[in-house]
Amino acid sequence: MEDLLHCPLCKSGRFLVFTKVKDHAISKETFTLCHCTKCKLHFTNKRPTASEIAPYYASDNYTSHKDEGAGLKTWLYKKGTRNQPSKKDKAP
Ligand SMILES: [Zn+2]
Repeated sequence: MEDLLHCPLCKSGRFLVFTKVKDHAISKETFTLCHCTKCKLHFTNKRPTASEIAPYYASDNYTSHKDEGAGLKTWLYKKGTRNQPSKKDKAP
């Protein structure tokens, strides 16, 4: 695990603990989410390093951003992420 001392986006050292969340799907570990007070980014801290991160995605049920896969869950996920309402869809 890598302990971040600076925000990964703006490099500010000013961030607060936002909440703790448990990965119920794969690792069963609890992760701390921090909130940068400068750029408002929320990020995991500590976070797995590049060489440690693969097992956290080792699930047959994991839905990635790829176009592969089928089924209702994947279809719903893609509807939710790709068809965000735009201004032209809103009522006047
Ligand atoms: Zn930041």
